[in-house]
Amino acid sequence: MRFIDPHIHMTSRTTDDYAAMQKAGIVAIIEPAFWLGQPRTELGSFKDYYSSLIGWERFRASQFGIKHYCTIGLNSKEANNEALAEEVMELLPLFICKEGVVGVGEIGYDDQTAAEDKYYRLQLDLAKEANLPVQIHTPHRDKKAGTIRSMEVALEHKLNPHMVIVDHNNEETVRDVLERGFWAAFTIYPNTKMGNERMVEIVKQYGSERIIVNSAADWGISDPLAVPKTASLMLEQGISIDDIHKVCYQNALDSFGQSGQMKESDWMDNTSIDQSQKLFNNSILRGGQLPTIGEIRTNPIFDSNIIR
Ligand SMILES: [Zn+2]
Repeated sequence: MRFIDPHIHMTSRTTDDYAAMQKAGIVAIIEPAFWLGQPRTELGSFKDYYSSLIGWERFRASQFGIKHYCTIGLNSKEANNEALAEEVMELLPLFICKEGVVGVGEIGYDDQTAAEDKYYRLQLDLAKEANLPVQIHTPHRDKKAGTIRSMEVALEHKLNPHMVIVDHNNEETVRDVLERGFWAAFTIYPNTKMGNERMVEIVKQYGSERIIVNSAADWGISDPLAVPKTASLMLEQGISIDDIHKVCYQNALDSFGQSGQMKESDWMDNTSIDQSQKLFNNSILRGGQLPTIGEIRTNPIFDSNIIR
């Protein structure tokens, strides 16, 4: 089975993760722009971060046979530094039209402050103007009210709900999101947002229409295999292959594919792996390491204690 993880922060992950993801059937991923665990202090660090999402990280994924896309935006936490947020807003139009950018994201509310509201609205307008999908991060505190507010503001700004992916849903929010015609994404993140047993129950109850599963794996204690593991659990628990295919692959492609930047042929026609490739004269290989050409192996660290 093939999978797409439409929300994963690979700049925080290792080559072992890439190898394991490819082995588990992940063919494409979307990396939303987010905060780095500590606030940035300069415009330049946003610029370099966005550049790495469309450059080096995309290349690194390709060296493991995974197609990498991203969404570009100003995250809600850092919207609260208004002086810097103003400068970032000027940078965004330059990046959202780059190759492989499938939306504006992840944007929305964190503490639901006035500044967050202001930059959320400005970015909705930007997405609408560029005709790009929007990837919404819903707040972890006051989740239900924050999720409803995120959708109401999107509608106020005349966005088509079919262009908006509302992320980090749970049992409390799913009905509201689906009823309003938005895409409902679920993050399977250990011990916090959603466990995958709960995800199985949601698909049993609501079906597979407009429901999307992701890992949101990042620098925290998270699981880059959350999508294939959830698919496997669904299969065990009697969910049909068709429904699993929709929530773990097709719906992500149909929603973000509306950008015109993401097509199945991107990975179907191009599955060869050649780690001798370079970007900006740099490869993922160090010193005398030999490139893998063809099939990826998981890190040999798991086979032996000897490191050569
Ligand atoms: Zn995220």
